[in-house]
Amino acid sequence: MTGQFKRHPSKENGVWRINNSSLDLIQTCFRKAQFTFQNPDIETGSVATAFGSAIHKAMEAYYLAPRGSRNADIMKEAFDGYIKTSSIEVPLEGEARSVKSGHIILDAYHATYGDDSFEVYCDESGPFVERSLTAQISPAITFYGQVDLVLRNTINGQLYLFDHKTTSSLSGFAGRATPNHQLTGYIYLLRSAGLDISNAILQGIKVTKFARSSPEFMRVEAYRSSDEIADWQEWVNFTTSAWELANATDQYLMTGSKACTTYGGCRFKDVCSAPKNMRTDLLSLLATKTMEIEE
Ligand code: SF4
Repeated sequence: MTGQFKRHPSKENGVWRINNSSLDLIQTCFRKAQFTFQNPDIETGSVATAFGSAIHKAMEAYYLAPRGSRNADIMKEAFDGYIKTSSIEVPLEGEARSVKSGHIILDAYHATYGDDSFEVYCDESGPFVERSLTAQISPAITFYGQVDLVLRNTINGQLYLFDHKTTSSLSGFAGRATPNHQLTGYIYLLRSAGLDISNAILQGIKVTKFARSSPEFMRVEAYRSSDEIADWQEWVNFTTSAWELANATDQYLMTGSKACTTYGGCRFKDVCSAPKNMRTDLLSLLATKTMEIEE
């Protein structure tokens, strides 16, 4: 699923509007969530994000094409089109996430899955691609998100939420499908929109420079029961209530220390470790620096 930059919860007429990224960030660290929501200019994209989004576009174009007429060029055209319009520059070659490695992956994807039985599911609104959905979790919470791709297995008619993930390693990838709040939330959204759906496929795509190796893929199927969805709804309710409490008391507490250091470290570390009365100024400085880097 894409849309990582639209993670700011809002409250209107007593109803919270919140998405999966916001909930994840709040659970990661209240303080990081507050810094992020209050300073949207500090959020930056990355080559990894742009590359992943370009792969998503390629997959959408591929599965929109009729079975039997699909080829790698359909994917490459969509992939290149996204890269050309992206504000983040993806290198042409020499890096794991480059235009060249993207084309190698897409050729290999077609060679591997060219005869699979999936096609884009269509309803009265058209193909189920990049569909923005909302659902009322409770009178006080609207959950929203964008579902990139719902595919239908032409053999048995079963619907699948499809999510393509680029990753530097497929080791442990099979374990990423369950539990996975993001998939559960999107299945909830789809069910709320009237789809008879309980299954998802997490498609792993290994990304390297491919100097001495070939692309590798892994498909993991996941099922969501009504119990799991109810469990997820409790998580949304609890996390939103906790965020409301943080807002009401102006207390944005630090998290367990791992969130400060994983994935290259939290970008707010310097702000967070400064005295409280200096943080607003340091955040402004960070926002200015980010804008200069992006120019
Ligand atoms: S440095 Fe750690 S405690 Fe501070 S905002 Fe970031 S994740 Fe939270």
